[in-house]
Amino acid sequence: MPVSRPASRRSSVRGFYDRFDTRRERRYQRFGVGFGRGTFDNFTGIDGAMVLEEDNPIGNGATYYDTEGAATATAVSPTPDPMSTHDDGSEVSAVCGYEAQFETPLDKKYVCPVCLSALRDPLQTKCGHRFCKVCLTLASGPGNVAKCPLDKLFFDVRSEVFEDVAMKREVLSLLVLCTNLDCEWKGELRLLEEHTDDCPHLLILCSNGCLTHHKRMDADEHHNNCPARLLECTFCQQSVAYKSLNQHQLLLCPRYAIDGPLCGKVGIIREDMPKHTDHKDGDCPKSMVPCKFGAMGCHVQVRRCDLQLHSQESQGLHLDLVLVHYTTQTEHVQEQACTIHELQETCSRLVGQNADADRKIRELSGDVSSLRNELSLATNTNYTGHLQWKVQISSRDFTAPVLSPPFYTSPVGYKLRLCLELRGHVTRSDSYTSIFIMLCKGEHDRNLYFPFSAVCSLTLFDQSDCENHLNTTITCQKMPRPHEVSSTMQRRGRLQFMKTDTLINGRFCKTGTLFFQARVNTLPTAHTT
Ligand SMILES: [Zn+2]
Ligand SMILES: [Zn+2]
Ligand SMILES: [Zn+2]
Ligand SMILES: [Zn+2]
Ligand SMILES: [Zn+2]
Ligand SMILES: [Zn+2]
Ligand SMILES: [Zn+2]
Repeated sequence: MPVSRPASRRSSVRGFYDRFDTRRERRYQRFGVGFGRGTFDNFTGIDGAMVLEEDNPIGNGATYYDTEGAATATAVSPTPDPMSTHDDGSEVSAVCGYEAQFETPLDKKYVCPVCLSALRDPLQTKCGHRFCKVCLTLASGPGNVAKCPLDKLFFDVRSEVFEDVAMKREVLSLLVLCTNLDCEWKGELRLLEEHTDDCPHLLILCSNGCLTHHKRMDADEHHNNCPARLLECTFCQQSVAYKSLNQHQLLLCPRYAIDGPLCGKVGIIREDMPKHTDHKDGDCPKSMVPCKFGAMGCHVQVRRCDLQLHSQESQGLHLDLVLVHYTTQTEHVQEQACTIHELQETCSRLVGQNADADRKIRELSGDVSSLRNELSLATNTNYTGHLQWKVQISSRDFTAPVLSPPFYTSPVGYKLRLCLELRGHVTRSDSYTSIFIMLCKGEHDRNLYFPFSAVCSLTLFDQSDCENHLNTTITCQKMPRPHEVSSTMQRRGRLQFMKTDTLINGRFCKTGTLFFQARVNTLPTAHTT
């Protein structure tokens, strides 16, 4: 059955959900900000609602029973829920009533008084009025008590609002038509969305970007002729839109052959053009190139084909330039030679100075090391006639004499040493340790009086807990001036100081170590030098 449709519907390609915003505006114009609420009711737009109520056949006497008489109503709370769920579980934006093209004019009992479209998920209030679930939810706002916009009766949104399943079934069974141009489809409202998803007459925006629409069923035909379809350029193999191919080849394609702009030579590949016109390595006879004598001062630029002519015409000028250049360079070279000669002289002078400096450094290093030795000797040497002597005998050869470090009677006094001989005196039955004080050839002997006379108090320390130290005195009488560095003649002491066994195994030796102390006091002597 052919159905006439409004012109605005014919041109529309949008889904039937898209008109929600327009309908919501219309609803708010009719009912103000929403349903009245409790004692703070500020509802003002009631006049229009009252008019609607008077000719609304669904207003009174509605029941909560479906056609088979079974109780199906359930209490539904219209709390705000901006998202609703499809039958297949996917979430879609909240929408008001169905605004489809119905086959016959819509009976008023199917119309939502808020959005003026066919009821979607209808809810019935205590007073018997029906609204789309979303319309009631959006218009109610927060709180539990709302007021019906049609008859101003209060109801509890938790317990006095019910889903009207029978009405929902009736609405979904209404026959509707597809609004897409030339589509003959007719079916129940519940099937409309499914049809719209597959309708071959739906207009689709071209995916190539040509900004035109084509019917879903005409997609292949359009894509074969679309001005934005991609083609391969036969020269560079790039993908280019059909409508731009000509422009691409004439202006951009790197592999397209063009004419030389200066010489008119035909068939030069566009990307090879810079090589052709290069002023140094190119071969374009018309490109401008500099004269070969540019470095000599001829800054003329001529076309490549005229270069030979310029060279012939300017031979005289070029020779003059070369001569000037040669003269300047010669002077420059002479200046350089002078500078090099001066630098060589400076260099050899510096080499000599460097060798002198090296020699001085070596001498000073020798001085420093001998001073360092003297300093360490002086630091470890006593100049008050006292000696603290630690003797390690555990690993010694007992036949060799053990000499103490030197010590002095004063900073400019006599140089002395102690000498210990562990097998100093050997008899048939025993061997004795001997100890001597030695007068050595010293640094200050020239200013000292000889012969040397002194008394030496010697202590051998007891290293047991008894601390019963051994004290003895050695008298040095009239020892002559020493002439050799070490001479056993210049010594006085005890040949049988102690039995060696007693010394090593007794209380004086601990872990192979002996401790001696010597104090030397010089005696007045006749002033002979
Ligand atoms: Zn509605
Ligand atoms: Zn009501
Ligand atoms: Zn259709
Ligand atoms: Zn297209
Ligand atoms: Zn190309
Ligand atoms: Zn050229
Ligand atoms: Zn020139």
